Amino acid sequence: MQGFNKYYPPDYDPSQGSLNKFRGKHALGDRARKIDQGILITRFELPFNIWCGTCNNHIGMGVRYNAEKKKIGAYYSTPIYSFRCKCHLCSGWFEIQTDPKNTRYVVVSGARQKEEDWNPEDNGGFAVHDTDKEQVNIDPLAALEKTTDAKRLVETVQKPRIQSLQQTSEHYNADPYALSSKARKRFREEKKVEQNKRRSDDFLKDRYALPAGMSLLEEDEQAKEEARTEWQKAKLDRELRESKRRKTTLDIISIPATSSRLSRKASANSGSDALSSLRSRILQNTAKSSALGSARS
Ligand SMILES: [Zn+2]
Repeated sequence: MQGFNKYYPPDYDPSQGSLNKFRGKHALGDRARKIDQGILITRFELPFNIWCGTCNNHIGMGVRYNAEKKKIGAYYSTPIYSFRCKCHLCSGWFEIQTDPKNTRYVVVSGARQKEEDWNPEDNGGFAVHDTDKEQVNIDPLAALEKTTDAKRLVETVQKPRIQSLQQTSEHYNADPYALSSKARKRFREEKKVEQNKRRSDDFLKDRYALPAGMSLLEEDEQAKEEARTEWQKAKLDRELRESKRRKTTLDIISIPATSSRLSRKASANSGSDALSSLRSRILQNTAKSSALGSARS
C-alpha cells in the first residue's frame, strides 16, 4: 500500500521535477510497473462465466482479477483493450478482449466462455429467420411456381379489381361540380330539418327541465300514436287504482265506526237471528231423520 503522505527528503530539489520523478516512480505506483510495455495493471471483473482452459475449472461471472490491460488496436476511433488475467486456481493465463463492434467482451485464449446469450426460442419466443430468400436460392422450381402463381393472381384477381375500381372512380369523378352541388343541397336540407328538430327538442327539454345531454326520440306518427295510447292506458289505470283505493279506504274507515254499532245491534238482534237459525236447523234435522226413517223401513 502506498502512503498517503508525501515525504520530502532533505536532498529533494523541486526544480528537478516532481517527487515521483525524484524517486524514480510512476504516479500510478506499482500498477504501472509494466508501463514500458504499454501494460497497466487494473482490476478486471469477469463479465460472464468461463471455464479455465488450463485447469478446466468453472469461474463465475464477477470474479475479479488484477489484469494486465493493454491497448491492442482500434475499431474506428474506439480503442480495443485486452485483459490478461491469471487464473486464481491454477495460475494459467487467459485473455479477454473488448469488442466495440458488437459492444461485448470476447475470450481470446486460455479459457472458454459459457454460452448464455439470450435465445428467443428458449424463452417461448420465435427466432426471426429470413427463410424466404434462402428458399428461392435453394429451390428454383419453387421459385418458378411462385412467379407463375403471382402472374395468375395478377391476371385473374388484381387486374379486374383495379379495372372496376377505376370505373367506379371515373363514374364518380365525371362531373364533380354537379355531384358536389347535389350533395351540398341535400346536406343543407337535412341541416335545416335537423336544426328545427333540435330547436323543438331544446324547447321541450327546457319546459320539462330535462338534462341537456338527454337525446329525445325521433318524432313520427307511429311514435305519437304509441305515446297517446300509452298515456291513455296509464291514465285509465291510474283512475282505476284511485277508485279502488278510495273504496278500500272507505271500508277501512267504516269498519271501526260500524263495529261498535254492530256489536250493539248484534245484542239487540241476537234473539231474532238465533231464533231463525234454530228454526232452519230443526227443519233440516226433521227432513234428514224422516228420510233416514223411510230408508230404514
Ligand atoms: Zn485455471
